[in-house]
Amino acid sequence: MNVFVTGGAGYIGSICVEELLNAGCHVTVYDNLTEGHRSAVDRRAAFVHGCLSDRPKLEQAIQGAEVEAVMHFAANALVGESMTNPGKYFRNNVASGLNLLDAAVAARVKKFVFSSTCATYGPPDRVPMTEDLPQKPINPYGESKLMFERILQWYEQIHGLEFIAFRYFNAAGASEQFGEHHRIETHLIPNVLRVALGQMPEIQIFGTDYPTPDGTCIRDYIHIKDLAQAHIAGLQPGKRGFYNLGNGDGYSVREVIQMCEEITGRKIPAVEKPRRPGDPPRLVAAADKAFKDLHWNPQYPKLRDIVATAWAWHQKHPHGYPD
Ligand code: UDP
Repeated sequence: MNVFVTGGAGYIGSICVEELLNAGCHVTVYDNLTEGHRSAVDRRAAFVHGCLSDRPKLEQAIQGAEVEAVMHFAANALVGESMTNPGKYFRNNVASGLNLLDAAVAARVKKFVFSSTCATYGPPDRVPMTEDLPQKPINPYGESKLMFERILQWYEQIHGLEFIAFRYFNAAGASEQFGEHHRIETHLIPNVLRVALGQMPEIQIFGTDYPTPDGTCIRDYIHIKDLAQAHIAGLQPGKRGFYNLGNGDGYSVREVIQMCEEITGRKIPAVEKPRRPGDPPRLVAAADKAFKDLHWNPQYPKLRDIVATAWAWHQKHPHGYPD
């Protein structure tokens, strides 16, 4: 199968590309490298350096690659940043994403796989969270992804472009070759590991007065290779709609820090800070729908294994990718 992957030089995209290639697909990566890294693109993939806002280039790249499926990872994905610069999120995640949808329709692409997020739900009325919960995002990042989910439904109805959208909980961990390197790192696990590596003096805990047992936010961490496997399962014709991807276990910020201390064998100093705007207190997935419909079977459900693979990668690449 020929798969066109936007954002294939980013963290989640790069590992999905690796797994697609391992599964025998032909892959073309389209990425503008503002967030991604050229060296994170598997050498077996074709690479086009381009922006989603450059519609002619995008159309040419899709037509040239005889694409059967599109996987769309290219997006801005930081809750905190979206609370200070919402325009960036609506422009890049919604408006530029429309160019990709139109190019996919014009090229008669059969399947569109979309990277969505649990941030589309906002603070849930209950956990674990099923796909039918109301979606009331509390930050522009989640809102932009929800807008795109809704657009996808219209494109499927009107243009016949079958879609599957995965609502990720907290992607973490690494493959042997590829891992998490953001130029400005805001995510919890890579930041804690940077403290372990001596690159930061301490980890800041954003909020200790949440209504959770230890007062810090709870998240459901999911291994990046397990995420990738769900995307491959989602390529099958007829697999469509919305799926949560998470393990169903919630860990607090303090528990994550403690696990990182255990895995690294290093003391990780932490300081308590005020809440970060836009953070829901507790997000935990019910992913039964993916287990049942996609026969999705996570291989690394334990936080210990997730952190261990991330730590192995960070030790091998203490400064991340060279570019
Ligand atoms: N967090 C933290 N310190 C950090 C980074 C994150 O306390 O340096 C908290 C953050 O406020 C949230 C949780 O860790 O409650 C997970 O944040 P992350 O940015 O990793 O993922 P998000 O859930 O926002 O997508």
